[in-house]
Amino acid sequence: MATGICRLHPGIVIELKGIVWSLIRPCRGLFRNAGFHYHEVMAWFKRDKPALQTPSEQERRVRTEGLFDKCPDCGSFIWKKELEGSLFVCPKCSYHHRINASQRLKFLLDNGRYQEFDSHLESSDPLGFVDRKSYKERLEAAVKTTGGKEAVVNAEGSIQGHEVVCAAMEYSFIGGSMGSVVGEKITRAVERSLASRKPLVIVSASGGARMMEGVLSLMQMAKISTALALLHEERIAYISVLTDPTTGGVTASFAMLGDLNIAEPNALIGFAGPRVIEQTIRQKLPEGFQRSEFLLEHGMLDAVISRSELKEFIADWLTFMTNGR
Ligand SMILES: [Zn+2]
Repeated sequence: MATGICRLHPGIVIELKGIVWSLIRPCRGLFRNAGFHYHEVMAWFKRDKPALQTPSEQERRVRTEGLFDKCPDCGSFIWKKELEGSLFVCPKCSYHHRINASQRLKFLLDNGRYQEFDSHLESSDPLGFVDRKSYKERLEAAVKTTGGKEAVVNAEGSIQGHEVVCAAMEYSFIGGSMGSVVGEKITRAVERSLASRKPLVIVSASGGARMMEGVLSLMQMAKISTALALLHEERIAYISVLTDPTTGGVTASFAMLGDLNIAEPNALIGFAGPRVIEQTIRQKLPEGFQRSEFLLEHGMLDAVISRSELKEFIADWLTFMTNGR
């Protein structure tokens, strides 16, 4: 411990202790002889100005998070607003980002307006299925994240003036998998199309049948296909739009049964995954296998259309298919 006399206030003799003393101790001779300004020393430790206001962790997150998206293909960071303006297609490399069902319906239907129907249908858990989590828990989590009750949204609206029934699949809902409710909703969309004679458009994005519902989900393939056969008999147009990814039981049924089957660029479309096929046939698969362009080249699709041209393309074909009606 030491004492010091303030230069400006010689009456003040202060005791230096603790951390202050340990900091100025190397210069203690100087302080003793010349005296020092108490306030000068203390200014090192006291803050005259108000402390810098740093935003809290939560505020920081709100300001910066979610403004940019990284393109999974070219890796560039794109301002979300810009991405939204380009219908979620990367302006640098034209990669088609996955979009949810409501965005899809907004982009496809006139003025982004549509009337949803059958939104109340929700899955039960007929088999009491449990894997790492119970099916019930998975359903609850999916309802929470997507805000919808199932992996498909049914709607009525119009595409450049053509009134249509449109079903858009929601990939974020348990991988867009097809359980009994998805099957039922799509069948109802087909039936509505039959009753109203409006053309049907189904936008697929699915990992296939929902394994948590076992054979019940496989039965949906037959159910929807039968309904579509009736639509075909009635000569009502059905356009199937396949987006990334469309696989399994969905590809094996309604997604490939359109009067016109079109896909977005570079979408993964297939029945079994490439790894399973490679292991089965013991051969290396060619480059681009199961991508839209490959399927178009091999006659599995009628067209590959970019998202920005999709609406106009469908409208032109509806004019052609409905004979301008
Ligand atoms: Zn990109």
